[in-house]
Amino acid sequence: MTIEHVDVLIVGAGLSGIGAAWHLQDQCPDKKFAILESRDAIGGTWDLFRYPGVRSDSDMYTLGYSFRPWTSDKSITDGHSIREYVRDTARESGIDRKIRFGIRVVRSSWSTATATWTVEAQRVASGKSITFTCNFLLMCTGYYKYDAGYTPHFEGRKRFKGKIVHPQHWPERLDYSGKRVVVIGSGATAVTLVPAMTDKAAHVTMLQRSPTYMVSIPERDPIASNLRRVLPEKIVYRITRAKNVWLTLGFFNLSKAKPKPIRRLLLAHMRNRLGPGYDMKHFTPSYNPWDERLCAVPDGDFFKVIRSGKASVVTDHIDVFTKNGIKLKSGMELEADIIVTATGLDLQMMGGMEISVDAQPVDISKKMYYKGLMFQDVPNLAMIFGYTNASWTLKADISSEYICRLLKHMDARRLRQCTPVNHDPDVRIEPFVNMQSGYIQRAIDKIPQQGNKAPWRLYMNYALDLAALRYRGVEDGVMTFSNPPRLKAPAKRRRTASTHSARA
Ligand SMILES: Cc1cc2nc3c(=O)[nH]c(=O)nc-3n(C[C@H](O)[C@H](O)[C@H](O)COP(=O)(O)OP(=O)(O)OC[C@H]3O[C@@H](n4cnc5c(N)ncnc54)[C@H](O)[C@@H]3O)c2cc1C
Repeated sequence: MTIEHVDVLIVGAGLSGIGAAWHLQDQCPDKKFAILESRDAIGGTWDLFRYPGVRSDSDMYTLGYSFRPWTSDKSITDGHSIREYVRDTARESGIDRKIRFGIRVVRSSWSTATATWTVEAQRVASGKSITFTCNFLLMCTGYYKYDAGYTPHFEGRKRFKGKIVHPQHWPERLDYSGKRVVVIGSGATAVTLVPAMTDKAAHVTMLQRSPTYMVSIPERDPIASNLRRVLPEKIVYRITRAKNVWLTLGFFNLSKAKPKPIRRLLLAHMRNRLGPGYDMKHFTPSYNPWDERLCAVPDGDFFKVIRSGKASVVTDHIDVFTKNGIKLKSGMELEADIIVTATGLDLQMMGGMEISVDAQPVDISKKMYYKGLMFQDVPNLAMIFGYTNASWTLKADISSEYICRLLKHMDARRLRQCTPVNHDPDVRIEPFVNMQSGYIQRAIDKIPQQGNKAPWRLYMNYALDLAALRYRGVEDGVMTFSNPPRLKAPAKRRRTASTHSARA
């Protein structure tokens, strides 16, 4: 069996994996790296999801990479364009040649003696095992299971004679022309699907258990469009990115600090968009803004289709699926030809990979997350996890930058191992993400913990993370460096005529 060794092994060729590889090439050009990707394509999320209207719900000036300007004038864009952006980044920088497609990482074990990870993987097509070793393992595997989305148990599901579809596995040829569609859910996917499907469907109903905050945002950024007339693309990108970072952060912090006035503002905004006489019970969430992710509605498309009557919202609970649709707890029956279960994702960390350190299995749900990037007591391994309250890439970018600084620091000191270790008895454990969203609550026992103070605290705040990851020294008393390379004993050689002559 041949085992291939690289300095850094990246797992996942999505937005984060390609970004991480770019930073590595840029900052640590001497490091040999490879990317393992279980699918046959670059793009991760943006290649997998193909439902009608699939798009970003955060702006591309912050979802784009720090190093590659987003040049389209569409700020909220479709999945296809994001996929192309990630692929172009990989192709233009030669990163695509470093990707091994169709390889799923299953298990990794760290050995302190050799300061290496042994990474066991499988070829997806043949099931054959394949092993790699590396000095640093960078997990860019996203946060959910790729094989299946989350679908709760629906009583009577088999009775329904129409089609049931999950957005994670959208059938390529699904014809919904003239059909009555019910979309179950109220998250970003449902809010995208409903207006998109009104193009051909007879009617689309969004069936939600509880309302969500929605906010209309411009699909094209007017400031960027104006700046573009007079400034080069790079500068436009920087200015618009900075503007959007601070606007998003400011709004999030304000929502947390002053939930009541922000709630009133959001409710008034939705009322205005829906027009007079609309029953606001469908748009009055029971929680405070940003206790769950806020849904962006580009150019108010969702509100427009509700106003036009092409779509409607029902707030109720499902009792049972029937032959013709869904019977609700209120007794009402929704007739449908197609039911879309936009019921969310099944959270999974590190692509389901198991880990052990010096033959001891590690349960990451019992570990604190160091700087929102590495795990307590786990050496030379990082997992990129972006923001849930802003664009994912903002955090992914600065996380990769930090890893490069860390690697350079270790090289300079000739150390092979870096392990975040907690020495502070006063650190209290807290839940990973302070959000009530169903998909987070369902997975609380699979995700790592955070501490109540730095560097164990997950800020979800770009300004604080920027300071911690880009500017603060990597030596902080918590990150523990060890394991100098063992010096090879000099080979005992007899002085021979040939060695003499070689030197002469
Ligand atoms: C429908 C949808 C819309 C979204 N919209 C936004 C948005 O508007 N803004 C935003 O900021 N975020 C959004 N997100 C979050 C989104 O996931 C991030 O934007 C981003 O795509 C994450 O990139 P990633 O590379 O970290 O993970 P992913 O895109 O999930 O890519 C992970 C890659 O790792 C591979 N992989 C996983 N496990 C293994 C394994 N064991 N072995 C080998 N390979 C593996 C996968 O095949 C995949 O290619 C959205 C998510 C979804 C599902």
